[in-house]
Amino acid sequence: EREQLKSLRKLPAVTRDGTAITLMANLELPRDLDHALENGAQGVGLLRTEFLFMNRDQLPDEDEQYGVLRAIVEGMGGRPVTARTMDVGGEKLAGWMAGRYGEPANPALGLRAIRLGLREPKLLETQLAAMLRAGAHGPLRILLPMITSVSEVQKVREILGQVARRLRRRGVAIADPLPPVGVMVEVPGAALAADALAYAADFFSIGTNDLTQYTLAIDRADEQVATLYDPLHPAVLRLIQFTIEAALRSRIPVSVCGEIAGDARYAPLLLGLGVRELSMSPPSVPTVKKRIRSLDLMEASRRARVIMDQSDSGRIATLLDDFNAII
Ligand code: PEP
Ligand code: MG
Repeated sequence: EREQLKSLRKLPAVTRDGTAITLMANLELPRDLDHALENGAQGVGLLRTEFLFMNRDQLPDEDEQYGVLRAIVEGMGGRPVTARTMDVGGEKLAGWMAGRYGEPANPALGLRAIRLGLREPKLLETQLAAMLRAGAHGPLRILLPMITSVSEVQKVREILGQVARRLRRRGVAIADPLPPVGVMVEVPGAALAADALAYAADFFSIGTNDLTQYTLAIDRADEQVATLYDPLHPAVLRLIQFTIEAALRSRIPVSVCGEIAGDARYAPLLLGLGVRELSMSPPSVPTVKKRIRSLDLMEASRRARVIMDQSDSGRIATLLDDFNAII
């Protein structure tokens, strides 16, 4: 079985009817890069940069961040790297934050991710500068976490432009043209405003981990309610569908980077809804690829339509299982 999956590494991720699907890797640490390549990932769809900011007192300066990002961009050998600005806060609380802001009453709804970056523009500027410089060494995209409104995207774009001008004036090499700026759709409000966000964003990445948490009001890290955490809940699926359709209408790329993207069971549904790019933890790439290679897209979209008419997530799970059973 493992050997068989290994042999998939060099085969393309195409459906039976010949549609190419892009399979990318989620990286949490730089050392995950080797696993991404070993498993045949076509790029990094989500680089979580939190590791640079957690478990330390001294925040990383621009050069340190640039060094780490550049190594990853170069290590991917020309494949795209999607670097997300820090998603610190929420369940990823860093010690230094408490010193500045106290203990948040409700971390998941508090100062986290892009909100923190816009509150502390120096932090964001430093990180964007490192990304722009790393982007001079290979294809890099910038991804913004926990976006809820168009104005946040516009503010980040302004800051990015200022940082780029400053670096150019100093004669520092940066990405040219500027990297695409994408939006994580992981808050229900962002999904419902996807049409407007699609004008402001160069691409979407759907974060189903947080989207499920916020849609169902289930703390993703709380074991007491873990059985209620259900990405197949019709409300979550509708938000995913709504987001995909907004992206397709605006002709911007849309990928899914939450945990469900790495679970082969969900691939027929996500592809059936119109997704053509998935990003997942590296060991999942071969299994998802195997499922995709046996999939008929017309049949997948027909079944996705049936699934989207259901009101019960148990029924949805059964329908998906049935489809996955006939290969
Ligand atoms: C998500 O929320 O689905 C996601 C991919 O981001 P993270 O798990 O890092 O919050
Ligand atoms: Mg998230």
